[in-house]
Amino acid sequence: MREQVELLSPAGNIEKIKTAINYGADAVYTGYKSFGLRSRAGNLDKNGLKEALEYVHKANRKLYLTLNSYLFDEEFDELVDFIKFLNNYPPDALIVSDMGVLSLINELSDIPVHISTQANITNSYAANFLKPFNVERIVLAREMTIGDIKLFADKSRVDVEVFIHGAMCMAYSGRCFLSAYFTNRSANRGDCAQSCRWKYKLVEEKREDEPIYLEEHKEGTFIFNSYDMCAMPILDEIVDANAASLKIEGRMKSVYYVAVATAVYRKALDDILNGRNFKDNIDYYMNELKKISHRPYSLGFYKNQPKQYVQSSGYQRDCNFVGVVEKVDVDKIFIKVRNQIKPGRYEFFTKDAKVVPVEIDKLYDINSNEKTVGNPNEFLYIKCYVDVERRDILRKCESKPAI
Ligand code: SF4
Repeated sequence: MREQVELLSPAGNIEKIKTAINYGADAVYTGYKSFGLRSRAGNLDKNGLKEALEYVHKANRKLYLTLNSYLFDEEFDELVDFIKFLNNYPPDALIVSDMGVLSLINELSDIPVHISTQANITNSYAANFLKPFNVERIVLAREMTIGDIKLFADKSRVDVEVFIHGAMCMAYSGRCFLSAYFTNRSANRGDCAQSCRWKYKLVEEKREDEPIYLEEHKEGTFIFNSYDMCAMPILDEIVDANAASLKIEGRMKSVYYVAVATAVYRKALDDILNGRNFKDNIDYYMNELKKISHRPYSLGFYKNQPKQYVQSSGYQRDCNFVGVVEKVDVDKIFIKVRNQIKPGRYEFFTKDAKVVPVEIDKLYDINSNEKTVGNPNEFLYIKCYVDVERRDILRKCESKPAI
């Protein structure tokens, strides 16, 4: 039985970093305002990075910083300055795709490197070749089966990190030009417009004004739109394949997504690492994962070829994120509202993945004026005695909780 496997959560800004740590991540990955894929994820400036490192290290966890964009020569002067800054505030590793970036880090710094999934490493020969360059980990390409991962991990002299949850690209390990072609926003520079989720039609070269509609479904034709990955049903097999780190995708996703995905995988992983049968609780875990924003789930490439999701390009979720608990004062629970709230039935989702139903009949502002509705960014309180704490999540679910 394995004793230690890292749970690695996405965190696009300081609030998500704190959320991931509080909900049980062993490590977080985040981006700086330059050089990382996900240019629209919020990302950190230098002060934000210092704050994040202090917070994460105080909690005895790890922070990995993405420098995984593919760069041009003109960007390297800024990168030199940034690496020198990082030498004074070192993250636990830098996530890198570009061999030029790797070479510069080796020249200027001792910070360990993780090779990004964007580098498409699929064999241990590549991993072992990279080891002398202070490479401690490979984030495997998502196109590998469980058998491939096991073989790789057994032969590799560096650690292996694999994705367990999140969006998938239709292009090989995200090496995609759709977005750059249509919108001049390059996926390989962290600025994907999600063009694979759009509707498409077929046009014959000489009949441009006679498009052929490929109707998969009355909603449209989504020929490039992939299912999301959810490896929960085979989490034990992935642990047995000797992955050192299990990664949740989604630096652009909400605080709510980070909280629920982290807490649920934390629980399941703890079951496995402590010799309990996590499948005893799998319905609960899967049910919770359906309450966060997602496309239909699949096992990615782990067992078979992944599927295309042809019904629509939209997300599904069984619950809506309403707010975050900011403070609890005896019978008053102060909420920072994120999406509109009115009196009704809600549930809290706590840091140990428990669901606490609550009936809210009145809302109050901080001057104790009664409110009929709370809007995003307002600070309100409700009165009730339930066992919740700061940073617990308040949400509204379709299926009514049993009270
Ligand atoms: S357009 Fe789709 S397939 Fe291409 S990089 Fe973006 S998300 Fe991935």
